[in-house]
Amino acid sequence: MARKLSKQFRVIWTPEFMTSKTCLSCSSRCGRCAWLESSRPLNKHGKVPEIRGLRQCLNPDCGPKLGLLGHLFNRDWLGATNIGRNLARLLNGRPLISAPQGHDLELMDLDAELHNN
Ligand SMILES: [Zn+2]
Repeated sequence: MARKLSKQFRVIWTPEFMTSKTCLSCSSRCGRCAWLESSRPLNKHGKVPEIRGLRQCLNPDCGPKLGLLGHLFNRDWLGATNIGRNLARLLNGRPLISAPQGHDLELMDLDAELHNN
């Protein structure tokens, strides 16, 4: 798809590493929303069920000061928004929100090779 799009548009590969786990407000790590999950009944395995698609900033100093309620994010929205932030950082020569690793590093190397040839 990227190849087809590149015939009519400029395509810039943008790393997605940690984009769905990085707080939009403070750039700290986001994780499961444990306090909300713990208010739900245990699942059939006797474990606290995860609320899929919900992330909470794990920095206790981030977000409104309402006890347990920190910044909450829809995981997909958070990831998409942070990919946009990464693109803006790439275009402005600033570091990414989190250093890419593994698959992201390989794709960045391939992308650099393509644009240097
Ligand atoms: Zn935060």
